[in-house]
Amino acid sequence: MRSQPHFGFFVGHCVLPICLEGGVEYAHKPIFLFISNTRGTMIKHQGGCHCGQIRFTTEYDPIMVAQCNCSRCRRLFGAVGVSTIFGSNEVEITGTPKKYTFNGGSSMPVHLYFCSECGTRLYAVPEVMEGFMGVILGAFDDSVQFEPRAEIFTNYKMKWLRDNGCIKESFEEAAVMERLQALMENLDQRG
Ligand SMILES: [Zn+2]
Ligand SMILES: [Zn+2]
Repeated sequence: MRSQPHFGFFVGHCVLPICLEGGVEYAHKPIFLFISNTRGTMIKHQGGCHCGQIRFTTEYDPIMVAQCNCSRCRRLFGAVGVSTIFGSNEVEITGTPKKYTFNGGSSMPVHLYFCSECGTRLYAVPEVMEGFMGVILGAFDDSVQFEPRAEIFTNYKMKWLRDNGCIKESFEEAAVMERLQALMENLDQRG
């Protein structure tokens, strides 16, 4: 049975999935994300690394897709970081990615998984967001179908970067921590 699309706001620190790298520089600067998703639609997405030794599949749409313009995401992912957020049990991985662990803004570890052969960054699991993972948009085979609905850290944004109007919410850095509960509630509704 297909559930209703639901909308809400998600808030947390930069260490959360949208900003996979975290870091003390952004400690206590929470993010504010727009959520839009359905579940149980039988839509299947898949992807993997450039060399093909790691693949993943999911029966779900992302809980949210968001863009982070911060300089740390830029270093890790290119000009901009775009993450698709899933529940950590919603994506099946085959192959063995290498893990790079660092402390995020909350001082809790973020585990970034990448292919040790070709270097493709695949997904990240921030410990502060137990139960969630952020799959890097570019790792999907059908990545063109995902568009960010929100962006954060626009004060760090590349001046030449534009979107097609898909981004409905933009934030310089901010949001409110207590909104985290909204994501949890929305995730519950997916089930
Ligand atoms: Zn970031
Ligand atoms: Zn690879």
